[in-house]
Amino acid sequence: MATLNYRNPDLNGYYGEFGGAFVPEMLYPNVEELQEQYLEIIESEEFQKEFQNLLKDYVGRATPLYFAKNLSEKYKTQIYLKREDLNHTGAHKINNALGQVLLAKKLGKKRIIAETGAGQHGVATATACALLGLECIVYMGEVDIARQAPNVGRMKLLGATVIPATSGSKTLKDAVNEALRDWINNATTTHYIIGSVVGPHPFPDLVARLQSVISQEIKWQLKEKIGRENPDYVIACVGGGSNAAGAFYHFANEIDVKLIAAEAGGFGLESGKSAATTFLGTLGILHGSKSIVMQTKDGQVIEPHSISAGLDYPGIGPFHANLFTENRAEFFSITDEEALKSAFELSKIEGIIPALETAHALSVFTKKKFNENDIVVVCLSGRGDKDLDTYLQYI
Ligand SMILES: *Cc1c(COP(=O)(O)O)cnc(C)c1O
Repeated sequence: MATLNYRNPDLNGYYGEFGGAFVPEMLYPNVEELQEQYLEIIESEEFQKEFQNLLKDYVGRATPLYFAKNLSEKYKTQIYLKREDLNHTGAHKINNALGQVLLAKKLGKKRIIAETGAGQHGVATATACALLGLECIVYMGEVDIARQAPNVGRMKLLGATVIPATSGSKTLKDAVNEALRDWINNATTTHYIIGSVVGPHPFPDLVARLQSVISQEIKWQLKEKIGRENPDYVIACVGGGSNAAGAFYHFANEIDVKLIAAEAGGFGLESGKSAATTFLGTLGILHGSKSIVMQTKDGQVIEPHSISAGLDYPGIGPFHANLFTENRAEFFSITDEEALKSAFELSKIEGIIPALETAHALSVFTKKKFNENDIVVVCLSGRGDKDLDTYLQYI
């Protein structure tokens, strides 16, 4: 039997047919430097010691794995919530940001750039830079700046410079373009922290490894609670796919664990206003890697829509494109309205206000029937404070 490998890419950064590094020639040196050094650095004892200490005392890990009794009763199955919402800064993104700022320091970089959609990755990066003493510039779409004002304020308080992206739909993908342009112009001094498992190799693998602490903890926490390491299902929402990659990582090659990904359906798959990439996308190249992309016949990227800024992205990481193509994960498309309902439900019956992104993962319970004894872990990727204005519009 061939060994399964859904977890890591090959030497050229491919997960099956997806991945690679498609970057302009001027970025070769930056990307090659990372490709050559990332594994050695992040797997070194010195790095791991610093990283693990920060995750524990600064981020507040391990995050609880909480048995959600009320939600379990409602959906007649055994639901555990992996509480990434309890991390410092309110989501899983800090795991990646801290890891990459540490990596940048080991590479001798002085300046950090990042792009952000919901503002969560920007806040996480600004936080890590404040802590570890690096200059921080965050690119953000103008539309997202307007709908995520509190996070913009936080970044500024943390000492970061926020630069608006004013082209295209003025959202996440445009911010990525601006950040790439900056990186080309400041190659030697600057590290670009991508906020999800997207971008050219080695970013998808780098980010997945830094987020893999999520599934590592789920394993020992489940063992402690129910005497076995593996759940029957792991559910996560997918924008680029970093919380999902982290939650799936240590289960990806264990086929007794079924993986479920929830994408943002927006107004619905036929509405022309959606971000459900695996349902609407085709093979293409976006932001440096080959993956599934929402695009027209002649390769123009289609503007995505989601009520949640973090899922408002026209692509998906190559890790997930491969899980999808190989039928290793089951994908659901969740509309804005369905996500809102699930957010309100969790708030009311468990006293946990989830991020809008996270609410998409919770909606899977309204679409799929689980058995009474199934152990279902949901990655509760973030908290809903940042989405309060949106929630109040619909309550
Ligand atoms: C950014 C964000 C997401 C989407 O990003 P992934 O890389 O797909 O995880 C999901 N949930 C929350 C709370 C976020 O902030």
